[in-house]
Amino acid sequence: RVVDIETFSLEEENSEVTLRPDAWSEYIGQEQIKKNLSVFIEASKKREEALDHVLFYGPPGLGKTTLALIIANEMNANIKVTAAPMIEKSGDLAAILTNLEEGDILFIDEIHRLSPAVEEILYSSMEDYRIDIIIGSGPAAQTVKIDLPRFTLIGATTRAGMLSNPLRDRFGMSFRMNFYTHDELAKIILQASNKLEREIIHEAAVEIAKRSRGTPRIALRLLRRVRDFAEVANEEHINHKRTQYALDELGINSHGFDEMDLRLLTLLASSKGRAMGLSTIAAALSEDEGTVEDVLEPYLIANGYLERTAKGRRATPATYDVLNMRCVNEDGT
Ligand code: ADP
Repeated sequence: RVVDIETFSLEEENSEVTLRPDAWSEYIGQEQIKKNLSVFIEASKKREEALDHVLFYGPPGLGKTTLALIIANEMNANIKVTAAPMIEKSGDLAAILTNLEEGDILFIDEIHRLSPAVEEILYSSMEDYRIDIIIGSGPAAQTVKIDLPRFTLIGATTRAGMLSNPLRDRFGMSFRMNFYTHDELAKIILQASNKLEREIIHEAAVEIAKRSRGTPRIALRLLRRVRDFAEVANEEHINHKRTQYALDELGINSHGFDEMDLRLLTLLASSKGRAMGLSTIAAALSEDEGTVEDVLEPYLIANGYLERTAKGRRATPATYDVLNMRCVNEDGT
């Protein structure tokens, strides 16, 4: 099995042990997705066919790429990993597609960012395993049809809403990723600490889990940082006290909010009960709107700390509670 990771940053994983699971047994949580996918994988293996195209959507760091790699493993297929911003022209995509072999998997991250011209090529390749390439221009232009091998496209996006309908319709399966429970995250942390060969006390794993915004990527990042603190202190095991100390030092509060979350919530809470528009929020935080919408908000909404209304975003009673603030409306109530 060849994993061709061309254009992909594997974050902190380059330098040391990879913490990315490559088998179902190591992939914690997302039970419904795992169950369904295993059935579809088995069925297509029985039929000796390529798996139907799959779409994963949900906030970053919840395990979409990892699922794609596990699918490739299970299907015994080669996988080519890329991201939409790398595919600038239709020729780029044509080159990738014509280099695929029967049964290969093509993983495109951030698939909502493909340009319309590139998307157009993707439609026919997904549906008919064929692309039409126009050579030349003007009256002399010719269309050349190229047949493609049966491949599986796996798309990932943080924004299902931004996918065009024709593209969305061409995925045979689409799965929404959920945030992880503290329990699941603690399991992921324990498993990773095994791989890092630095034992972590269960209580400490739960502490990290609680402060990870329901996101494995954050949990693993915090684990590595906490481990650094333990290492410097010459502690063989990562204990609870060191973990609390390290997380406090890193500015992660006990609700799992990081500095940016707190800035967003404080901003909303200070607006005297009024809703705030996305662009106003983004400007106040000096962030782009996409980051606010895809990265910051989903966790806060899922946990009841932020409300989206027709007029904009609003703080909830839980927001005031957690910030130890009182809501004073414009009329003073
Ligand atoms: P996404 O593609 O959704 O942004 P990734 O698949 O890159 O997320 O996952 C981020 C990190 O979290 C990876 O390093 C992976 O090891 C870990 N991870 C994600 N989901 C799980 C899971 N269910 N079980 C164990 N580790 C996970």
